[in-house]
Amino acid sequence: MEILEKAPAKINLSLDVLHKRKDGFHEVEMVMTTVDLADRIELSRLRSGAIRVESENRFVPNDERNLAYRAAKLMKDHYKIDKGVRIFIEKNIPVAAGLAGGSSDAAAVLRGVNKIWGIDASLNELAELGAKIGSDVSFCVYGGTALARGRGEQILELPSPPPCWVVLAKPTLGVSTQTIYQKLDPKTAFHPNTKGMMEALQQGDFDAICAHVGNALEGVTTKLHPEVNQIKEQMRQAGADAVLMSGSGPTVFALVGQEARAQRIYNSLKGFCTEVYMVRMLGSRDIT
Ligand code: ATP
Repeated sequence: MEILEKAPAKINLSLDVLHKRKDGFHEVEMVMTTVDLADRIELSRLRSGAIRVESENRFVPNDERNLAYRAAKLMKDHYKIDKGVRIFIEKNIPVAAGLAGGSSDAAAVLRGVNKIWGIDASLNELAELGAKIGSDVSFCVYGGTALARGRGEQILELPSPPPCWVVLAKPTLGVSTQTIYQKLDPKTAFHPNTKGMMEALQQGDFDAICAHVGNALEGVTTKLHPEVNQIKEQMRQAGADAVLMSGSGPTVFALVGQEARAQRIYNSLKGFCTEVYMVRMLGSRDIT
């Protein structure tokens, strides 16, 4: 038995960090949405109990460091499964980019082994388990658009933005999420208007969505990597309706209402960055 799961990237329409908690995690409020830039995860059942992870991307580990491996192991232990699985990851999402690629792979494996091992757990159960792997995994189990609170694992579904184009550009540098959070002081950080973003989504108001994008981590990352600001500026000049860094960066995205303008932004960045993508947003029904 072999199945395919789509593991889409996420972008943060807004990301707020409220404070550092006693357990060391940060209390966050993030509005996230999935976009049609996705890894393809092939899963096939193994009769032996082994978990095998394969990928042709040299930045993706093929052992227990891989979040996809951890997802399969967690399901196997939690539901006491004696069968195994081969997981092939076709990596299309840039690694260490602020796009939750590893978390989305893990979420796709949770959904996939749930099917091939005949477990039949609900998405809610998978999302709850997924939080043990990483803070973004719960959101990635559902996809679509949602508010994520707590350390990112408390999910409230929201309407997806009206159809638009998303241009993503990643400068050739990787960013460690941990380092960015360590350098952040929530007291002096920028705080986006999360409520305003949620209302804009409820109303399906594209202009208001664009007006409310904001990321508390952007100031920290741009201080270390000024290239991020250069990309933002270039996207603005080429006609973006909104520009923002996603997650802890360094990927920057532009929201654009019209295809021709999105194409112009894409073309203007092609010579500047090696990794540039022009995609649509993706609803949760396209994934689960
Ligand atoms: P986030 O937005 O959730 O902070 P990210 O997009 O910045 O995540 P990832 O691409 O998920 O970062 O990868 C971060 C690190 O995790 C990589 O350097 C890699 O070594 C490790 N990793 C583990 N599993 C995976 C996976 N399946 N795909 C990519 N990287 C993985």
